Amino acid sequence: MPTDTQPNNDKTGVTTNTESCGSGLQLSEFGLIGRYFNRASQHKGLIKGVGDDCAVINIEPHMQLLMTVDTLVEGVHFSPDVQPDDLGYKALAVSLSDLAACGAEPRYATLAITLPQVDHDWLQMFSSGLFELAGQYNVDLIGGDTTRGPLTVTIQASGVAPHGQALLRNGAREGDLIYVTGQIGDAGLALQSNLNQLNYNDVTIHKRLNRPEPRVQAGLELRQLASACIDVSDGLLADLAHILKSSQVGAGIELSRLDLSESVRRYQEHTGRLDFAVTAGDDYELCFTVPPEHQNEIDKLSRQWPFHCSLIGAIDHSDTLTVLNNGDPLEIRHQGFQHFS
Ligand code: ADP
Ligand code: MG
Repeated sequence: MPTDTQPNNDKTGVTTNTESCGSGLQLSEFGLIGRYFNRASQHKGLIKGVGDDCAVINIEPHMQLLMTVDTLVEGVHFSPDVQPDDLGYKALAVSLSDLAACGAEPRYATLAITLPQVDHDWLQMFSSGLFELAGQYNVDLIGGDTTRGPLTVTIQASGVAPHGQALLRNGAREGDLIYVTGQIGDAGLALQSNLNQLNYNDVTIHKRLNRPEPRVQAGLELRQLASACIDVSDGLLADLAHILKSSQVGAGIELSRLDLSESVRRYQEHTGRLDFAVTAGDDYELCFTVPPEHQNEIDKLSRQWPFHCSLIGAIDHSDTLTVLNNGDPLEIRHQGFQHFS
């Protein structure tokens, strides 16, 4: 929304509030939106997308709407030398990961972006990374806000699930099995490597940090099988603890059952930080619980997934999370990332 100092209200994008680019092209806020963020819809339920005060959506009967929002701040969530296409991709990926955790089918996103200046090459790359992932999951970008200031990207994403089938954190019960998808700790190690110049040149871990793959398909398939689910964004222990608290149960897990990449395994052995992978964060894997009677179905399902799925423990009647490593209790200093701790 333009302010007094940015007085252009012309939604055609060609008047006073203009920015120039290398090619001499002059675009207003609305010109930028039209050029980089306005694309054709992929859903017949979209009545109005970019270009009005609100987006208007038809929701099918018997479906529930699930919504989530996440902000990425330069210097907090990504470094100033991030590749813009990776940033666009990751900004959407973290929101799709929340939808995956709830078993939602992604549909729509809105984007609030704050830019220090207009850099057309940057915007071209950012939007191409964003739309690359949006295309994979048929997500329409249906609106947003574009402002000037320190670089910040906020994406709100929404999806649908049949009535009553959304996966929540509060359904874990004593005896349920605890699983985690994929390999955790890779993104955390890539971050450590960047911050401390550790020279971990394993391209896979850097890809895991820069372009996490939201486990959307797994989330959909876990509907009606999992009793609780969460995506691992702040560290496995911290996020599993959210399931335990919501469900008012305890759990025991065995770290040797986790599938870890060679790089993370070596880093843990080298530093003696055996809790590194489970506290590192930025994994965007799913941690879920399953009643024992569904174990065979999970085994069958997970064999089709292009990533591992590890059975790491079980829910118990205690009120704590017990962490074992090869049968020995492991003392944990902190469970994961928090902004205000
Ligand atoms: P309003 O003043 O009603 O909030 P704006 O004038 O800020 O709307 O934006 C004009 C239109 O462009 C709206 O439909 C808005 O949702 C959309 N829009 C603004 N920024 C973006 C963006 N970064 N990506 C996609 N759509 C955007
Ligand atoms: Mg308005």
